[in-house]
Amino acid sequence: MEQIDWSNLTFGYLKTDFNIRCHYTNGAWGELEVSDSEHLTLHMAATCLHYGQEAFEGLKAFRGKDGVIRIFRIEANANRLQKSSEGLMMAELPTDLFTEAVLKAVKLNERFVPPYESGASLYIRPYLFGTSAQVGVKPAKDYMFVVFVTPVGPYFKGGFEATPYVIMREYDRAAPLGTGTIKAGGNYAASLVAGAKANEMGYSAVFYLDSKEKKYIDECGAANFFGIKNNTYVTPESTSILPSITNNSLMALAKEMGMKVEQRQVPVEELETFEEAGACGTAAVISPIQRIDDLQEDKSYVFSKDGNPGEICVKLYKKLQAIQYGDEPDNFGWVTILK
Ligand SMILES: *Cc1c(COP(=O)(O)O)cnc(C)c1O
Repeated sequence: MEQIDWSNLTFGYLKTDFNIRCHYTNGAWGELEVSDSEHLTLHMAATCLHYGQEAFEGLKAFRGKDGVIRIFRIEANANRLQKSSEGLMMAELPTDLFTEAVLKAVKLNERFVPPYESGASLYIRPYLFGTSAQVGVKPAKDYMFVVFVTPVGPYFKGGFEATPYVIMREYDRAAPLGTGTIKAGGNYAASLVAGAKANEMGYSAVFYLDSKEKKYIDECGAANFFGIKNNTYVTPESTSILPSITNNSLMALAKEMGMKVEQRQVPVEELETFEEAGACGTAAVISPIQRIDDLQEDKSYVFSKDGNPGEICVKLYKKLQAIQYGDEPDNFGWVTILK
């Protein structure tokens, strides 16, 4: 077997041994298939290619100190994919089948789950898309579901670090009543130009305000936002935010730690009042925000002067990771142990 340099993995793609596939035809899902090919055979007129009928998920498997492999919140990801199917008029994949496919994909690629000490993990990418050949704009009859896995490195190589974000009012990620709440690939295509521009200017990601009024906070790139003040965890509510499972988990942990949790509209000026701020998602768990520059208003909201994350960000981050790696008990039933 080739040697993998676990602690120097990036958030890239590394070939693993097997992937799982499942076809939906004639109104029913077929059997799970195991493949060792990295390629799909697709009709050139498949709806996913022309009309963006595609949604995906992202979750991780972790190897504990005890050698046990734990997968974080499979069921929540299955439920979210079902919501995406509803929103894009795609066939709905039952939770059992989703779970079986994820477990199988991890099991067959067990040797790619990084060792505990490396701080790396196995990223799991399930996705579902329309495959019927048609040019008429209507939902496909046939669908395909695929799960592949790839090991990814620790998000913070130089340690947990705060980074800057930027408000750019000339770009939107999703329409107020559009597909923002759906984990659709198309939302990402729509965000690439703004994201690249932000990166070019030295920012981690775009800090999006609501598309209609540009008054309220939406998301930080492809991560949810939260702010901390007066022992309260505040996270925006909006019709265009993707419901992050990490955010949902952090809210539960914040409550457990005795904090208040508020999910509501958050006006952009309120940024001034937060003691700490972070972006959250599966890739990094928490990415602490150093500052947010509002270019048009020529204003800067600073949360960390020295680049170090705030105390509560660190506490929440450590707690969630401890549950994921099995260092602390899974009181919420979030973890599935691979047998
Ligand atoms: C996937 C995603 C997130 C993060 O969700 P997690 O379930 O925490 O990984 C946040 N925002 C967008 C737009 C996303 O696509």
